[in-house]
Amino acid sequence: MEVIGYGTQDASIDLGPLKFTREPVRAGEIAIQITHCGVCHSDLHQARDDWENTVYPCIPGHEIIGEVIEVGEGVSRFKVGDRAGVGCMVNSCQQCDQCDVGDEQYCTGPKSCTLTYNGPKKPDGTNSYGGYSTGIVVREEFALTIPEKFTSEHAAPILCAGVTTYAPMKYFGLGDGHTLAVAGLGGLGHMAVQIGKALGAKVIALTTSPEKADALKEIGADEIVDVNDDDAMEKHAMSVDLMVNTIPYAHDINPYLQLMKAKSQICVVGNFLGFEELDTATMVFNHVGITGSLIGGVAATQEVLDLCAEHDIRAVTKSIRMDEIGEAFQRMLDENIEFRHVIDMASLRDDDDAAAKAVQVDNPVRGEVVGRA
Ligand SMILES: [Zn+2]
Ligand SMILES: [Zn+2]
Repeated sequence: MEVIGYGTQDASIDLGPLKFTREPVRAGEIAIQITHCGVCHSDLHQARDDWENTVYPCIPGHEIIGEVIEVGEGVSRFKVGDRAGVGCMVNSCQQCDQCDVGDEQYCTGPKSCTLTYNGPKKPDGTNSYGGYSTGIVVREEFALTIPEKFTSEHAAPILCAGVTTYAPMKYFGLGDGHTLAVAGLGGLGHMAVQIGKALGAKVIALTTSPEKADALKEIGADEIVDVNDDDAMEKHAMSVDLMVNTIPYAHDINPYLQLMKAKSQICVVGNFLGFEELDTATMVFNHVGITGSLIGGVAATQEVLDLCAEHDIRAVTKSIRMDEIGEAFQRMLDENIEFRHVIDMASLRDDDDAAAKAVQVDNPVRGEVVGRA
């Protein structure tokens, strides 16, 4: 499949049109014409090499929705014309202990899982290209069924923002009678608030932007606490069972510790850059854990799609054209936004100018289709 993508060949260059070939569909795989792709903070970090592991060219995008246009031999879950989603991974070994329990994101196979863009989690020089593109080929085990009641624009953010916040809630058994706190109320955080409510928890939204209070109430937050207001923080001391911390950069986590009940957990899902100091005394005296969680497995992704459909949970989205991605990245850096940009991929498919200007790059890999019965 000949594909136009939007990416960059260097950390210092803005994203622009690139072209390449997706290798033909093999047995067990499907080809998807991409109609929508959500814009995640990871896309920006990866394109700018903030984690110092980017393999260029980098074509981001892992909240992909589209239409199946071809199915390979033996494909059983999709037919041509179906809507399908692709999240953060396109492949894994399908044979290790982690894959066996549906946690493909922790695959211990030789190359680890293959992320939707930037290739294997343990970089080995091979690359994959994500959803800022007109099409993708993926093994069917890594494609999601999109519940009918979602528009594609509203479904896209669930594929990363939704599952990334749902996975720790599931792992730690969040439910009725528990209090969830959400730190960082951007694309991930605003999904976390809604998913926590759907699971039966009381939800405290922790913000540094109290002017967002109305928007946070609207999506179901029971309490809104201004992190910079000492009295408000004190009032909620030792009240939280689980905190999902979605803040995507290094920050001071210590003020949050006082909110945690004894034997509770703060789960970091967005900051790969570390913390300078940790108040280990509070952690020890109250048995507060700081843990981490990476995206979520394919089964959990389908689960959270179905949960969001059942509870009418919607991402708050803003539709953009592919060529507006630079502005969207800048807004994410500058403005503390509480919605998800979603790219309308028709804007790239129909852009003759982009097609004419697109720079040819090497074809991406997507790993073997191993482990199929
Ligand atoms: Zn993401
Ligand atoms: Zn594996």
